[in-house]
Amino acid sequence: MKNAVYLKILFLVLSGILGILGGIEFYELRHYQETVVVSEDFTERIMLSTYLPNLEGTWGDTPVYVFDSGKPGGSMLICGGTHPYEPITTLAAYVIMENIKVETGKVYIIPVSNRSAATLGMRGNGYPKYYSVETAWGKQTYRIGDRETNPLDQWPDPYTYVHYPSGQNLAYQDIRNLNRTYPGRPDGTLTERISYAIMELIRTEDIDIFFDFHEASLMYPVVSTYVAHDRAMDIGMMAAMMLSATQFPMKIEASPKNLRGLTHREVGDFSNTLALLMETPQPFIDRVAGRMTEALMVDGIDEFVQTAAEKGLVYCDYDIHEGFTDALGNVIIGAPLDYRVGRHLSGTLEALNWMGMFFPEKAMSVSFPGYPEIMENGTGYYLHDPSKADKSRVFQN
Ligand SMILES: [Zn+2]
Repeated sequence: MKNAVYLKILFLVLSGILGILGGIEFYELRHYQETVVVSEDFTERIMLSTYLPNLEGTWGDTPVYVFDSGKPGGSMLICGGTHPYEPITTLAAYVIMENIKVETGKVYIIPVSNRSAATLGMRGNGYPKYYSVETAWGKQTYRIGDRETNPLDQWPDPYTYVHYPSGQNLAYQDIRNLNRTYPGRPDGTLTERISYAIMELIRTEDIDIFFDFHEASLMYPVVSTYVAHDRAMDIGMMAAMMLSATQFPMKIEASPKNLRGLTHREVGDFSNTLALLMETPQPFIDRVAGRMTEALMVDGIDEFVQTAAEKGLVYCDYDIHEGFTDALGNVIIGAPLDYRVGRHLSGTLEALNWMGMFFPEKAMSVSFPGYPEIMENGTGYYLHDPSKADKSRVFQN
């Protein structure tokens, strides 16, 4: 009898210790700060709550970085981290922010669009909290977040999520999915308010072209693709053709009219901007992938996804043994980080180029490294050492 009581106390203490250890890890990820050194063309950092004051002080508020040439020209908004479990979207935004030159027009970049979702991992998936990029001056470490808004910030989920304003019924967890809550509303859930604030930025600043960066599982047909709103279709089609001929395979899809809440549909419908979404291949989030390790995030090499590829079940080039050759002659083995970062950079540059061709009044002169440069030098080459940079250009994000 007495022993049973001691045993119970022992288990209580042990579970308490495990709870504290686990809690420390959750706390660390929630408060981790990434470092970015912005380029000399940086103008100012504002918060997203500038466009919707009730976001201030919430985990939905997030920094917006502005690069204004001060000269007339088009304007662009880039959103990384709509789904923080696709973290290369944020890294691609950082690489742009660290290297961008803006000669005409104005650029807005939100590297972590759903900041709340970046503060935890997917429950039940068991994967590392961080991944690192090697540079000449050391390692730079970034978060691997979740797909959806943290339940600590928005809870509980309803049985059915009714999208506003279409009334379409969506899966319950999509009420916390930033790519299902557009165009949002100012007094809605936290995720709807983030969507609404981004829409307000686009409308207030009269953004000409909008990019939403994503990564997709290889078994999802929309991988390695632009998804274009109706008005951006010509731009996306020309850019996809050019990229496929000269750099890497890129497909194009028209935004479906009957699937609501997504950026490529609602941002185009509820503003004047040309809306494009881009997907890179990311084996890490494939359902069939094996151990979800940092190496899988960085190298994208997985034997189970390979087996799926051999059976014709994936929708892009993938080979972990021989690799495949891109239009520049690079052999791509798996789906490495540089390949995915480079795709987003050139995907943006090429579409910008075609916007200037189709709409000369929206043309803007913007440059940053593209896919060829990233494949040649590696992503780390384009990340700057914060300890050597001018302090006014170093930010914690
Ligand atoms: Zn996504």
